Amino acid sequence: MVIAMEQDSQNFKAKVLINDIPPEGLSLYYEDMPGLLDGLDDCWASGPIKGEVFIFRSGKKIEITGKVEAALELLCHRCLAHYDSSVSVKFHYTFLEPPSWKKDEEIKLSPEDIEISYYNGEEIELSDIFREQILLQLPMRQLCKEDCKGICPGCGADLNTEPCRCKDTSEEGPFAILKKIKIS
Ligand SMILES: [Zn+2]
Ligand SMILES: [Zn+2]
Repeated sequence: MVIAMEQDSQNFKAKVLINDIPPEGLSLYYEDMPGLLDGLDDCWASGPIKGEVFIFRSGKKIEITGKVEAALELLCHRCLAHYDSSVSVKFHYTFLEPPSWKKDEEIKLSPEDIEISYYNGEEIELSDIFREQILLQLPMRQLCKEDCKGICPGCGADLNTEPCRCKDTSEEGPFAILKKIKIS
């Protein structure tokens, strides 16, 4: 049985209204974030994407610490095979009110503030943070294995599993011409 999923309606969104953050902070946990990685052409979720955050607000400064875990299916950029991977990463963001809004307030940043962003208006979209954190973990060049041999640009053979067929396409082979050259 095939269960059809309506991707558009499943897209995970998690807006946090800044004014709703209680003084003691806000803990949120997500067992799955369907559609979080939609729109990518070389990375797909192969299981539930789990995430958790703790959001703390002090004045105009908002701290978000959290974690995201995902089982992934990635496209090998060399041979185009799909392979399994996973991401598990902790993160820390500091959100500030855009500076132009109020300049009379001084905000001290600690050295461990690895990410500083500005929130826009009254809300922070957590799905953007989770998605960004997963994408930051992906290698620039995704490889199914370190020594992936890739696809022959001549004959299209997957060189991991089959031999190059380029020399079969001409009867004499690509080096036959060399035999015809006579050096006198
Ligand atoms: Zn590969
Ligand atoms: Zn070939």
